[in-house]
Amino acid sequence: MIQISALPAFTDNYIWLLQDPHTLRCAVVDPGDAAPVQAWLAEHPGWVLSDILITHHHHDHVGGVEQLKKATDAKVYGPASETIPARDVALKDNGRVSVLGWEFDVFAVPGHTLGHIAYYHHGLLFCGDTLFAAGCGRLFEGTPEQMHTSLSRLAALPEDTLVYCTHEYTLSNLKFAAAVEPGNPDITARLEKVTEQRAAGIMTLPSTLALEKLTNPFLRVDETSVKEKVDERNGTQNRSPSAVFAALRAWKDKF
Ligand code: ZN
Ligand code: FE
Repeated sequence: MIQISALPAFTDNYIWLLQDPHTLRCAVVDPGDAAPVQAWLAEHPGWVLSDILITHHHHDHVGGVEQLKKATDAKVYGPASETIPARDVALKDNGRVSVLGWEFDVFAVPGHTLGHIAYYHHGLLFCGDTLFAAGCGRLFEGTPEQMHTSLSRLAALPEDTLVYCTHEYTLSNLKFAAAVEPGNPDITARLEKVTEQRAAGIMTLPSTLALEKLTNPFLRVDETSVKEKVDERNGTQNRSPSAVFAALRAWKDKF
């Protein structure tokens, strides 16, 4: 059984560490900084970093790759259509990779960046800056339509899927979610819980797709309450779910 833990980096990034205790091999997802990974390896003699999974080209996700590649024999996987330092394996939509003996499906999830990919292994999703707990990534390169399609694809995975995103943005995302749906009791309850967790310095990840469907406004653009709130703000009617998504994302950008 593979264990997953978080190595905090910068102010709000998590580098996910996958460990196979039987082989003492480990893998990391999106090491924006090599230092936390190298510190962990130094504290855990015998462990070997064998794989590095990259979701997209932003510096806070790839910044540590070259240094880790020099210090270890790790293989670097990343999206084919983006420039990823020291990449060994270029991945495309519906590709498959074997990491620590686990098969991962690769999904193209354009929106935050155009080449952004997510990694899925039965019940586990590493989605970078696409789906966040109670939120989603900013649209730096893609269109709202692309991001809406990408999020819908992730939302179609099994409900008990654990969502390992890269940033601890849950509290600020939930404050926005509460503004969108003030009458949603699941959002109110989650906001309360996450407020306590953050005050105690506790990580709010991973999330689950079931919880995201109840509390993430960006997965709830089909809900009448969300559509009406956006219509009310924009003074428009009859929006498609992807138009509701676009207006919601634009609102969040200024929230
Ligand atoms: Zn990013
Ligand atoms: Fe990021």
